[in-house]
Amino acid sequence: MKQHHRQDQQAVTILGSTGSIGANTLLVIAEHPERYRVFALTANTRVDVLFRQCLDFKPRFAVMSDVASADCLRQQLHDAGSDTEVLSGEQNLNAVACAPEVDCVMAAIVGGAGLLPGLAAARAGKKLLLANKEALVMAGDLFMAAVIESGATLLPIDSEHNAIFQCLPIDLNGRFANDPNHGFAKIVLTASGGPFLTSPLSEMAAMTPAQACAHPNWKMGPKISVDSATMLNKSLELIEACILFDTPANKVEIVIHPQSIVHSMVHYKDGSVLAQMGNPDMRTPISYGLAWPERISSGVAPLDLVAAARLDFLAPDENRFPCLRLGRQAAEARGTTPVILNAANEVAVAAFLDQRISFTEIPAIIADTLSQQPSIAVDKLETVLLEDAKARRSALKFVEQRSR
Ligand code: NAD
Ligand code: MG
Repeated sequence: MKQHHRQDQQAVTILGSTGSIGANTLLVIAEHPERYRVFALTANTRVDVLFRQCLDFKPRFAVMSDVASADCLRQQLHDAGSDTEVLSGEQNLNAVACAPEVDCVMAAIVGGAGLLPGLAAARAGKKLLLANKEALVMAGDLFMAAVIESGATLLPIDSEHNAIFQCLPIDLNGRFANDPNHGFAKIVLTASGGPFLTSPLSEMAAMTPAQACAHPNWKMGPKISVDSATMLNKSLELIEACILFDTPANKVEIVIHPQSIVHSMVHYKDGSVLAQMGNPDMRTPISYGLAWPERISSGVAPLDLVAAARLDFLAPDENRFPCLRLGRQAAEARGTTPVILNAANEVAVAAFLDQRISFTEIPAIIADTLSQQPSIAVDKLETVLLEDAKARRSALKFVEQRSR
């Protein structure tokens, strides 16, 4: 009989493999072929990138949300003699997230589009590496309930939450062991402050998509790059932290740390503060998630503190970043407020990237949408999906009014 040992290969599905997190995940997997093999890769429309990934990693399935893109990829792979089966549509995204052959799912689709496949993986009890923070913001309680019920292992990939995870006492299922004897006091989420941390306030309204996407420390997809520039990203992360670590918003502090070396911290009652540090490179949290509770090489250069020389920390300015205030209010209100915040932001960011609205109109549209739609309790997934759709329609209406 074949000998099984702890290094048995894990079958991995990557939802959103053509994005920044997806590509970094494949880089780590490529370093450890004895540990991981790719079961499925998925993308929205980028046929050329997914084609290349399929030839390199030979997944059993490739799924494209877009049908025409899937047809194109199928033809190209067929001509190249590949055995990868190409599927399309949302149903198949869910199917490759919960297939019995899959051990581990990387949820790296951007935005609300990632909610259903991520939830499918959680319900199927997978080891779930969650980069798609919007899914947790939208349906946090339902998501956590699914994880507990199925026995899934939820590993946060967002660098801050991965850092907090590394600094907290964690039980065998990877859950925060909220035992009063551990003396947990508060979480400090660090934020780089993005590209506009010190820009003159008078120039903010004229900032272009290219300027907003030029993040000083991280190379990321366009949506999260704009979120970093408005700091709505930190608001989503505040909500994400409350959900993942079962902690009220008043125990999560946000501190600006422009160097992005301390990825977040946990304070304890005795005055101890544990921080996780490293170069700003997502391959570190990704490899920690893949190998947890072990550690593997990630390809990230060792941190050189002498070269970095300085670690600065400063209080965030809510006048410069009104999205921070909106986010804290949403984290405290809960119910569907985070759903509305996220939906309005997705619509506003897409409109900003399309140059239909200005940079400073992003928080204005979120605030307008929030004030128009009352928050209700989240009892089931349908409520989330309905309120999300409603908020998107109303945000779009505000975009149209402003872009006239
Ligand atoms: P990205 O834009 O680079 O990639 C997004 C991926 O999602 C692509 O593969 C794309 O094909 C897929 N996708 C987009 N829309 C889709 C749809 N409607 N249906 C199916 N697939 C779709 O984004 P990213 O920067 O890799 O971020 C992915 C997620 O990870 C986001 O939720 C982001 O907030 C989170 N995250 C990213 C980073 C980072 O460093 N990039 C860090 C922390 C968290
Ligand atoms: Mg982050």
